[in-house]
Amino acid sequence: MKILTIIGARPQFIKAAAVSRQLKTNNIPEIIVHTGQHFDDNMSKIFFDEMDIPLPNYNLNVHSLSHGAMTGRMLEGIEQIIISEKPTLVMVYGDTNSTLAGALAAVKMHVSVAHVEAGLRSFNLEMPEEVNRILTDRVSSHLFCPTQASVQNLLAEGFGNFNCRIEITGDVMQDVALYYGAKSAERSKILSNLKINSPFALATFHRQENTDDPAKLKGIVEALNEIHRKMEVVVPIHPRTEGLIKSMGIITDFRKIPPVGYFDMMELLKGCSLVLTDSGGLQKEAFFFGKCCVTMRQETEWVELVEHGFNLLAYPEKETILRAWEQMINRKPNFNIDLYGNGKASERIAKYIKSL
Ligand code: UDP
Repeated sequence: MKILTIIGARPQFIKAAAVSRQLKTNNIPEIIVHTGQHFDDNMSKIFFDEMDIPLPNYNLNVHSLSHGAMTGRMLEGIEQIIISEKPTLVMVYGDTNSTLAGALAAVKMHVSVAHVEAGLRSFNLEMPEEVNRILTDRVSSHLFCPTQASVQNLLAEGFGNFNCRIEITGDVMQDVALYYGAKSAERSKILSNLKINSPFALATFHRQENTDDPAKLKGIVEALNEIHRKMEVVVPIHPRTEGLIKSMGIITDFRKIPPVGYFDMMELLKGCSLVLTDSGGLQKEAFFFGKCCVTMRQETEWVELVEHGFNLLAYPEKETILRAWEQMINRKPNFNIDLYGNGKASERIAKYIKSL
């Protein structure tokens, strides 16, 4: 057994770290390929250092290209690595171009694909992530589903008739949040360093469907500016998003900080009163740390959070976001419920692979 792991974006580094630890415990050799999709030093380097993730064995350095060019170059590079490394299994995570390129390169060379975070759907094909997920799932032999809803999505699409195995493992993000959340108070002083006083709201937005649509971007910024008048809003801002805001001449009043390392993020999550985000990962992390969330999107892949009242969807428009914030800020749901496997997902994944 030899695993070839393909990662390239921030959340994938985090998820792969949890699984890598368990693969090691089970003596399963792993080669890591960093496609280079996230190249900003502020993000990737912090993550590799902080997370104790073994440095990738390969770095393809593919970034800053259109979807087609990026995926194409990754495909080419991954294919060469498959030829020289001869892995038994290629593991991909989530829904990025790196995910799709890894899956496609492998299946064309008759190497089995395992997809972590399989079966998630937003049912919005305009999202590049949705296209990546659907295609990756379809060519994967091993589908590691984080939730019951994701299993149902696959079955509804006929995956029960395909030559693949569907396994409900729980969500590796919860493993990661528990593991690093226990260490973050020692490792991060962000709340005192930045003199962030409670109560504050933690907000992030970076999704193309929001940032590349001037009306939505303006709506989000205006809503956060308004909330900031009532409660400090802290936004670790992606450089790409910041560039777009500047180029559109939109004024921000809320508190912008550079993208933060994961331990800092854990401390921000523990300290905040509420999360507003368009990130998939952060919606769940809010739940893991017992915080309500407003998701500034029309749909979410993490439907169980909405069903149980932990999360409220808000169309990215000023008034809608403000109403959602008002509704959620005083909500006190009981967070004591197992929706994501209680931190055992990566262990289940490694045991499954060991049994192959
Ligand atoms: N994250 C972080 N620092 C930041 C922004 C995000 O550590 O400045 C973490 C966040 O906690 C989550 C992950 O990165 O675990 C989510 O990344 P992102 O929002 O880029 O992607 P998505 O979840 O939408 O795929």
